[in-house]
Amino acid sequence: TKLLFLETPSNPLGEVADLEALVELAHSIGALLVVDNSLLSPVGSQPLKHGADISVSSATKAIDGHGRVMGGVLAGSEELMTQVAMYCNSCGLAMSPFNAWQLLSGVETLSLRMEKQYDNALKIAQWLKEQPQVQAVYYTGLPDHPQAELIRKQQNGGGIVVGFEVADQEEAWKIVDGVELFSRTANLGDVRSTITHPWTTTHGRMQPEEKLAANIRPGLIRLSVGLEHIDDLIDDLQQALNK
Ligand SMILES: *Cc1c(COP(=O)(O)O)cnc(C)c1O
Repeated sequence: TKLLFLETPSNPLGEVADLEALVELAHSIGALLVVDNSLLSPVGSQPLKHGADISVSSATKAIDGHGRVMGGVLAGSEELMTQVAMYCNSCGLAMSPFNAWQLLSGVETLSLRMEKQYDNALKIAQWLKEQPQVQAVYYTGLPDHPQAELIRKQQNGGGIVVGFEVADQEEAWKIVDGVELFSRTANLGDVRSTITHPWTTTHGRMQPEEKLAANIRPGLIRLSVGLEHIDDLIDDLQQALNK
């Protein structure tokens, strides 16, 4: 084993990997620990501070934040990044100047956007917990998250992704079809809120028994919470739940 690759928190169930414990495990066998940090963005977590060797972020998501650019970021030691840069160079992985310009304007507001989007996500998670149709809510910003202590140690806030569960696929589809403000798309991290049905989209290529083993059930819905006014977001979810 040369490399241990993980994503934390998991998407969309918000299971958190203990970075320092896994760094120790990886390094004990001479492997690198690589963390996909796309869900939180560098505002929500800096895996290198916890000993990870490389932190990966999809810049397509929160770093651009406006659905305009595809890109990615790797961060790590100069020694590792020199090797990565040489590899990217020989593969032709160069961003166009226009996309780079858009990404640079997006990153200027990253921390402000994340602060507000995390706050909206927390309010939605708390509101969803009160709804009779909702059987479970998954969000790493909730104070009663089973891993709250670990989350405080390695995250700044809960992020933008909220998972919640209703009875079955039929109910989930009514909600996904019923929202008007949320866009139906598998993207996340945008300033506009999005809604996804993981069973048939992000996890659609897995076998049903594999999905169930990963706790991805037909009644699960994923939200990526944006910058809209919180009252408008909650009103939209309410009218969709009423349907
Ligand atoms: C979307 C996503 C990716 C892929 O990013 P692209 O920029 O769309 O290629 C990788 N990891 C995570 C966790 C993601 O959510």
